[in-house]
Amino acid sequence: MNNIPLIDLRAQYLELKDEIDEAIRRVMDSGEYIAGPEVEALEKEIAATTESSFAVAVGNGTDALALALEAAGIGPGDEVITTAFTFFATAEAIVRRGAVPVFADIDKTTYNLCPEDAERRITNRTKAILPVHVFGQPAEMDAFADLAARHGLVVIEDACQSIGATYKGRQVGAIGDIGCISFFPTKNLGGYGDGGIVVTSDERAADRVRLLARHGSRKKYFHEAIGVNSRLDPLQAAIIRVKLARLHDWNERRRQAAEYYNTGLRDTPLRLPAAPRHAGHVYHLYVTQFHGRDALATKLSQDGISTGHYYPCPLHLQKALAGLGYKQGDLPVTETACAHSFALPLSPHLTKEQQDYIIGKVMDYTQGW
Ligand SMILES: *Cc1c(COP(=O)(O)O)cnc(C)c1O
Repeated sequence: MNNIPLIDLRAQYLELKDEIDEAIRRVMDSGEYIAGPEVEALEKEIAATTESSFAVAVGNGTDALALALEAAGIGPGDEVITTAFTFFATAEAIVRRGAVPVFADIDKTTYNLCPEDAERRITNRTKAILPVHVFGQPAEMDAFADLAARHGLVVIEDACQSIGATYKGRQVGAIGDIGCISFFPTKNLGGYGDGGIVVTSDERAADRVRLLARHGSRKKYFHEAIGVNSRLDPLQAAIIRVKLARLHDWNERRRQAAEYYNTGLRDTPLRLPAAPRHAGHVYHLYVTQFHGRDALATKLSQDGISTGHYYPCPLHLQKALAGLGYKQGDLPVTETACAHSFALPLSPHLTKEQQDYIIGKVMDYTQGW
């Protein structure tokens, strides 16, 4: 069996090659390389997909988070409760606002922010709560909505890994006040470069994000605020539109691949991902836990099977955030997950033969553990 990558982006391109090449040619022929109809069309389509009233395309998912926080009025000294079991950008966006990330622990079965621990960390400086739908698994949004209502907080969703996932039938990103999505190439809906989008049904927030992302300008050469330059280019928009038409089908294929692993690995000592019935998981990553992870990953790599370590260092122990004063032991569930979790290859293009091969190797190596 040839090498099996964690996420097969080339197979994804080859499935849509003709349409993507045609979309690229269309933009090149248009003579318009910033903003324009492709970006506007994508914004409408993403708003529809996420069941939001507005979508504002920006340069990347990190900017989406920082701009959403700014539009929500989060600034210096404000505390934002979030998870440490996520990509660094979640906390980086908060710090970029001059605000303080306050880390709460995660639920050990879903890896998502634990509502009870989040509540314990609320102070009179808390302004927002920022759950991440990690690995494509929806966070407990009802509990966060309840917390927000009782304590007057804004809810901003980091849906960077989870477009198309549903929580009790609702699209993630559109459940809280503002949702942030990334189009990084490996995400479930990725471009061929950087990109992101903010979704919301709050017209004032959408307007603010759009203004801030365009140099604080509505009218060319007139600026009413200090903003940034954060745009999605039409080339990426045209590519993402082609893939958006496949999103539902590809998320379904991810789910089927996850179920195939769940069945095949049932009798191994691996702790398989939990999928609560009310959560429409989209398996951005298939993350399992195993005490002998490092040895297993080495063995699998010798057989050409890539695995990923999500996440090797929790955010509260990152050097860049040492000033926040956290130490080892502060978030035990997060730290255990970081120590033992790893992802097996999963993408819509993973074949049953590849999965059988992976399952067989995992069974061989974990026998006797
Ligand atoms: C990818 C990601 C981001 C950042 O998105 P970029 O487009 O890479 O800036 C933020 N949060 C999470 C959870 C992510 O996975």
